[in-house]
Amino acid sequence: MNLLGKMDSKKIKKIVNIIDKREPVVILTHSNPDGDAVGSSIALGLALRKSNIPVNIIIPDAIPVFLEWLPGNDLITIHKDNQSAVTGMLSEAKIIFCLDFNDPDRINAVGEMVKQSAALKVLIDHHRDPSDFADITYSEPWRGSAGEMIYLFIKKVFGNDILDKDIATALYVAIMTDTGNFRYGCSYPEIFHIAGELMQFPIDKDEIYAKVYENFSADRMRLMGYCLHHKMVVLPEYNTAYIALSSAELRRFNYRKGDTEGFVNIPLSIDGIRFTALFIEKRNIIKVSFRSKGNFPANEFAEKHFNGGGHLNAAGGELKDSMKECIEKFVNLLPEYEEALGKA
Ligand code: 5GP
Ligand code: MN
Repeated sequence: MNLLGKMDSKKIKKIVNIIDKREPVVILTHSNPDGDAVGSSIALGLALRKSNIPVNIIIPDAIPVFLEWLPGNDLITIHKDNQSAVTGMLSEAKIIFCLDFNDPDRINAVGEMVKQSAALKVLIDHHRDPSDFADITYSEPWRGSAGEMIYLFIKKVFGNDILDKDIATALYVAIMTDTGNFRYGCSYPEIFHIAGELMQFPIDKDEIYAKVYENFSADRMRLMGYCLHHKMVVLPEYNTAYIALSSAELRRFNYRKGDTEGFVNIPLSIDGIRFTALFIEKRNIIKVSFRSKGNFPANEFAEKHFNGGGHLNAAGGELKDSMKECIEKFVNLLPEYEEALGKA
């Protein structure tokens, strides 16, 4: 595999050569995108647009409501709603940047088109074990966010002067959201140096926090209360807690996309709890999110038992089984991990 590592200048040159010709660029990110996915994509998109390079950002399914305010969101096209436009963009593109995902399977039908495209594919990501589909793979799994990598990449390709308040805002959103507002996955100085540089533009970090995290509906707050009061199951013998929500329960609280975002983290603040799961019933699957504290590898658990993956402390997956079967599977696996959960 062609690992870019420390942004090797030969490979950067290959990218710059295409960009300098003002050839069309596509930026792609994963389905059900989070702040890192959208923030990183918009930051790179804005840097390209500022350099007069034709650029489109493609998102497979939808942009979450809490990110709609981001400057530069007009660069985004949603594949589900504009399939023919996306097909055109991908066929014209000379470079496809794949951000914040490690496998084309994470981008549904768009993944197939990417695999078949003749464009130079550049993967910039912080998930472990990237699959070998890109021409240039820039993988740094130790980082808390892809946003940091995009920050370094933008400076390297376009120079320091390209950065501005809008780009800094998008990058700050990427880093802030993937580290839970600098709570996890960011115990190294560089991420704070980067955040410090972004602050100089000047961005308003409190306003950004409020726009992302304090925009909930009353229904969402009630759903959260219902989850914690009626649905949270605590298994102290395994230092584990889980919540399961059926689609009927979601309907009862007028569920809107993104409403269950963050629920999986809440039981982690119970003293002693080191592993949490959130099961959500979707049309024909159960989507599962996992969070852990310390060394307990949520990603290995997700990969081995729930067709998923992710990071050490934040992972997810899905099963085609019923909710009851999923929960049984989860609970029955815990004894196998009793020791690891005890010392995590
Ligand atoms: P979330 O729980 O917020 O949906 O996802 C947390 C992290 O878990 C994501 O950033 C992603 O790395 C990983 N993840 C979530 N769902 C899946 C999945 O279905 N497959 C894989 N491979 N990773 C997932
Ligand atoms: Mn990320």
